[in-house]
Amino acid sequence: MPRVFITGITGQDGGYLAEQLLAEGSEVYGMVRADDDDAAGELISRAPRVVLHGGDLADADRVGALIDEIRPDEIYNLAGISSVAYSWQEPVLTAQLSGVAAAIVLEAAWKLQERTGRRVACLQASSAEIFGRAATSPQDESTPVRPVTPYGAAKAYAHHMAGVYRGRGLPVATCILFNHESPRRPLAFVTRKITAAAARIGADGSGVLRLGNIEARRDWGWAPDYVDAMVRAVRHEIADDYVVATGQTHTVAEFAEVALRRAGLGDSWRDHLEVDAELLRPGDAPTMVGDAGKASRELGWEPTVRFEEVVALMVDHDIKLLQRSGA
Ligand code: NAP
Repeated sequence: MPRVFITGITGQDGGYLAEQLLAEGSEVYGMVRADDDDAAGELISRAPRVVLHGGDLADADRVGALIDEIRPDEIYNLAGISSVAYSWQEPVLTAQLSGVAAAIVLEAAWKLQERTGRRVACLQASSAEIFGRAATSPQDESTPVRPVTPYGAAKAYAHHMAGVYRGRGLPVATCILFNHESPRRPLAFVTRKITAAAARIGADGSGVLRLGNIEARRDWGWAPDYVDAMVRAVRHEIADDYVVATGQTHTVAEFAEVALRRAGLGDSWRDHLEVDAELLRPGDAPTMVGDAGKASRELGWEPTVRFEEVVALMVDHDIKLLQRSGA
């Protein structure tokens, strides 16, 4: 079975990916930031057989040394800043971690492949944000890359570098991931903010959920489905770019409605939702929707969990957390 190296293993996708790969018998190695004991502890409780190494993605020497030492057959580069909102606060750090760091990983992988003569298959986690305010809908692999946020621009650089190294002989696949959610989504993301608030409001029927642009339309999928697409892309004989999406869109307001109803608010859900102009973000595309036809045809990939189920799974998890905390 393959030996696998994952950056960003403590993140939402990294954890699901590690669990899937361990379950099929792969040896799984991951890089964690030295000061991230809590996230590493949580990961080990779910995936006890992962082997973790300390390291920062911005440290080219450390990343190179780890890839040299582990000699992976597969590398999944998932680490970086994954929040568009945070990328506006830290555009330079975002460029370093979500952009330039991909070149660090790819260069180390290419050198390992050159030295050993063994195939080192790589996966770069690209993002639908590389398309910015796309002129065509749905977006697919041929949609022009024209980002409008610091996060999108950083991911666009990494996406292009994946193509550059593919041209150099390294089998680098990219998954151009549309939004995907789970109970492991950090609270800073709007979806988890909504489900956590819905659980709180549902507990005693009081409180308000404040959101910015509730008319934004997004294509939301289920995170474990999306890591499955990554594994299929890495193992496909020809490395290529794949849009990973459901092809269905819903507004942020619809997400909130489904969540508040699930938490027991019924038709009174409207009384618990407020628009706050201060929360509007610059540059957000009004609609993002992906066409995953190529992933379906070439990788046999299909989403398995529908929008309403994704929201329900997240709300139910947040209700349980609240009950456990005794609030
Ligand atoms: P996530 O939960 O935010 O995880 C990001 C990971 O990167 C965490 O493990 C984090 O470690 C790590 N990291 C951050 N800075 C680092 C550094 N300097 N050195 C080493 N590790 C560092 O992201 P995700 O949702 O799993 O997404 C995975 C990938 O897919 C990301 O590249 C993201 O941009 C991309 N993507 C995600 C979505 C989505 O909807 N989830 C959509 C499109 C693309 P800590 O635990 O130490 O913070």
